[in-house]
Amino acid sequence: MPTKTNKKNGIFILLTTLLFITASSCQSQQTKNINAGTTALTALKYIYLTFDDGPLNGSENIDSVILAERLKISVFLVGEHAEKSKILGNYYKMYEQNPFVESYNHSFTHANNKYALFYSNPPNVLADILKNEQLLNLRYKIVRLPGRNMWRIGDRKRDDGVSGSVAADLLAKNGYKLYGWDLEWRHNGKDGTPIQSVDEMTKEIDSRLETGNSFTKDHVVILIHDEMFQKKWEESELKQLIERLRLHPNYVFEQIRFYPNK
Ligand SMILES: [Zn+2]
Repeated sequence: MPTKTNKKNGIFILLTTLLFITASSCQSQQTKNINAGTTALTALKYIYLTFDDGPLNGSENIDSVILAERLKISVFLVGEHAEKSKILGNYYKMYEQNPFVESYNHSFTHANNKYALFYSNPPNVLADILKNEQLLNLRYKIVRLPGRNMWRIGDRKRDDGVSGSVAADLLAKNGYKLYGWDLEWRHNGKDGTPIQSVDEMTKEIDSRLETGNSFTKDHVVILIHDEMFQKKWEESELKQLIERLRLHPNYVFEQIRFYPNK
């Protein structure tokens, strides 16, 4: 027969158990919330829109889209273009004054578009990069080699199978970081018309970020050329692409300087 003390003990054990269950469920809810927070953080995906070969006709339209959209981009500039005419010189200044644009090095001569010859002389490549850096007052030792998709970041490197590897190593030894690209928005060389539609580009970017098919997972570098945007910005595919990508709340537009170093 249960005594009074036994009954009391029984009630005490029952209450303690109930309290324990409640506390555990609260804790697991908290853990869940923390996990959800972490998941949201790790789900951030970074897009680097990089524009090569400016200043050129088209740079002025990129400049105004970027100002209106307030979006961070990177431009890889060619000094020889900035010196070619007063208009192009002004486009370079426009980029310099745009707070959303960061300027990096794409060489002074763009190899005169004779890449094999250019890369056969690595010290000359270094001198060309240095000349561009001084002429354009470039603040960062960040380079995209003309005509080559080469990467040199810390211990990580990638060549594109064509000449240029020795020159790239020499630049890295001199403190330069080299950035290639994961995906190019190609264009018709005659009139600058984009080859892939905005829809195709959006799908490809989504897929690269989803599958991790890029030099660094969750980071995708897009190569675009200034001469693609010779139309008025209101009509431009660039604005449409930006609008489409911005539908994803976890996509972040960043400048190359902030690309992971390891
Ligand atoms: Zn180029």
